[in-house]
Amino acid sequence: MRAVLGAVLLLLLLGVAGPSRASPDEPVGVWPLDPRPDVVRHFEPPPTPYAAGHRGVDLAGSPGQAVHAALAGTVGFAGSIGGKPVVTVLHGGRRTTYEPVVASVERGQPVAAGDVLGRLVVTDSHCFPSACLHWGLVEGEGDDRTYLDPLSLVGGGPVRLLPLWRDDPVTVRLPWSPPLWRWRRPVDWVA
Ligand SMILES: [Zn+2]
Repeated sequence: MRAVLGAVLLLLLLGVAGPSRASPDEPVGVWPLDPRPDVVRHFEPPPTPYAAGHRGVDLAGSPGQAVHAALAGTVGFAGSIGGKPVVTVLHGGRRTTYEPVVASVERGQPVAAGDVLGRLVVTDSHCFPSACLHWGLVEGEGDDRTYLDPLSLVGGGPVRLLPLWRDDPVTVRLPWSPPLWRWRRPVDWVA
């Protein structure tokens, strides 16, 4: 009996002292708009890098509103892509993107979470004629890039794999989820 009790106590202790669930991918960022904006369109990742989808989220804002860095990093791009003003901030192997935003920062400039990157404009807005910020989170480069749900940085919104399952968020462990998303998505991001 004493051995059984000892085993139970040991299991309880292991449970308490076991591996922490904390990870670097837990929400650590700040919303790029203040006050906390409404999400007017969610993340709809494309099945391949070149397929249709929505590679980020749209946050409701107003013209001229300040846009803030979600995480500390270094400005990787501040300028125009195809006529659309874009700011990108590098965070190690990942980057956050903000558009359409007229930059007040320069490439190579270090920024802290919450620092102002520029001003939201309506040109090329995903919500035209309304203003909204298209906010993206990307890992990797070129064909190896993977789009992630930026709301995971602020603890908002379920992670969705494909628009088809919009009303039924799924976990990465399901056997039929696309391999790209199954093994690249950190486990802690399971909806
Ligand atoms: Zn968008």
